[in-house]
Amino acid sequence: MHYLIIGGCAAGLNGIEGIRKIDKEGEITLISEEKYPPYARCLITNYLIGTHTEEDLFLRESSYYEKMKVNLILGKKVVTVNAKNKNIILNDGEKISFDRMLIATGSVSQRLDCKGEEKQGIFEFRNIQDVYNIKQMVEKCEKAFVFGGGLVGIKAAYGLNKIGVDVEMVVKSSQLFSRFLNKSASNIILNWIEKNGIKITTKIAPVEIYGNKEITGIRFDNGEEKKAQLGIIGKGVRANISFLKNSDLHLHWGVVVDEYLRTNFYDIFSAGDVAETEDLITGKPWINPLWMNAQEQGYIAGINMAGEMRSYPGSIAGNSAEFFGLPVISLGEVKETENVEIIESKDEGEKGYSYKRFILKNNTLIGVVLIKDVEDAGVYLALIRAKVNLQEYKDILGKPWFNYGRIKDLIEIENGFRESISPEGEKIFFK
Ligand SMILES: Cc1cc2nc3c(=O)[nH]c(=O)nc-3n(C[C@H](O)[C@H](O)[C@H](O)COP(=O)(O)OP(=O)(O)OC[C@H]3O[C@@H](n4cnc5c(N)ncnc54)[C@H](O)[C@@H]3O)c2cc1C
Repeated sequence: MHYLIIGGCAAGLNGIEGIRKIDKEGEITLISEEKYPPYARCLITNYLIGTHTEEDLFLRESSYYEKMKVNLILGKKVVTVNAKNKNIILNDGEKISFDRMLIATGSVSQRLDCKGEEKQGIFEFRNIQDVYNIKQMVEKCEKAFVFGGGLVGIKAAYGLNKIGVDVEMVVKSSQLFSRFLNKSASNIILNWIEKNGIKITTKIAPVEIYGNKEITGIRFDNGEEKKAQLGIIGKGVRANISFLKNSDLHLHWGVVVDEYLRTNFYDIFSAGDVAETEDLITGKPWINPLWMNAQEQGYIAGINMAGEMRSYPGSIAGNSAEFFGLPVISLGEVKETENVEIIESKDEGEKGYSYKRFILKNNTLIGVVLIKDVEDAGVYLALIRAKVNLQEYKDILGKPWFNYGRIKDLIEIENGFRESISPEGEKIFFK
C-alpha cells in the first residue's frame, strides 16, 4: 500500500501518526511545498521575535521520519491531481502514483484586493519564509501596518511591536476577532493591545498601496494617507483548493468530505484547513481553520486510510492566543443568536481584564469565551463536545471548582449524573 500525503503541517503530520497506528509497513510519502519538515505554524511569531530559531519550530526530530518510514519530499508543489488515475504531478513534472491519498494542503491568505498590493514590502504572515522575508525588511522600516484584526493579524502586529517596529493595525470590520469574539470581549482585547502600544483603527480599509517598486505609503478608504515601508496581510484564510480545480474531486468552500473524511473518491481523504467537514454545533458543512481541528482530522483520516472506519465528530470554531501576557480562548458559538442563554462575568478594571462568557442552548453549552483565567478551557470544550445537559449546574459555570476532576463523570455518564464533591466539601453535580 502506498499512502501519499500532500501537505506537511498539522493535518499531514497527524495523518502519518494515524496511518502508522494501524499499518506499520505500508509506504508513506509526504510532499510539502515548503522546504521545512512539519513545524508549529502557530508559533512563527516567536521566530519573528527571536525567541525561537527555525529548528525550534520543527514538530519532530529528523529521525522521526526515518523511524516512521516516511519518504519526505520537501520544497515541491503538487500541481495536478488525477483522482481517477490515482496519481499526482509535481511542479518539476514528476508523476507519483498512490493507493490512498490524504489532501492536507491547508489554507491561503485572503487578499487585500486593493491597488498596489503586489508591491515589495507587502507580506503574508503564514510561514517561516514569510517571516524570514519580513525580518530582512524591519531594519529599514520606520512604520508598519497590519491589515486585518483576526488571529494572524494580531500575532503579526504583536511580533513587530516586540522587536521595536512602530506598527498600527487597520481592521475593516467594527471589532477585532470578528469571527471568534463577541463585541464586549473583543473590546477588552482591543483596549489591552492598545495599552501595550499598538494603535488599532476599525472600520477602515486600504484602497491603494503606493510607491515605485517598494511600498512608501498607503491610502485608506476614509481619504487618509499614511507613510509606511512594510505591510502585512492578516485578513483571514480560505481553503487551498485552486490546484484541485480539474481533479474531479467535489469542491465547495473546501474539499468536501464525509464523516470518515473521505472525498467523493473512495481512496482519497482530506483533513485540516482545506477540508470542509461538519461544524459540531450547527451540524452544517463548514471549515473551522484551527490547529486542534487539523490535528484531529489528520489523525482520523490517517486511521481510516489504513482501513479503520472511525467517524469524525465535527469541528469546532474557536481560537486560543496570548497577547502581552493576556490569554484569550473562544470555543464554539459565542455570538448572541436566537434562543440562547448567556451567562457573563467581567472585570475589565486594573484588576486584570478577566472575562467569562458561557452560551447555552437548550441547557447545553454551545460556546465559551475566557479572558485571563483560561485554565478550565479543556473542561468546557469537553462539555460542548459531549453535549451535556447543564440545567442544574448553570450557576457554577466558571467557578474555580468546575474543573475536569469534578465533571469527568458528567461527561462520561450517559444516563444521569453522579454526585461529586467540591474542594470545599460540597456535593455538586448530582441529579
Ligand atoms: C501565523 C499563524 C498563527 C496561527 N495561530 C494559531 C493558533 O494560535 N491557534 C490555532 O488553533 N490555530 C492557529 N493558526 C492556524 C493553524 O496554524 C492552522 O489551522 C493549521 O496550521 C492548519 O494545518 P493544516 O495542516 O491543515 O494546513 P497548513 O498548516 O496550512 O499546512 C499546509 C501545508 O501544505 C503545503 N501545501 C499547500 N499546497 C500544496 C501543494 N499543492 N503541494 C505541496 N504542498 C502544499 C503548504 O505549503 C503547507 O506546508 C495560525 C495560523 C497562522 C498562519
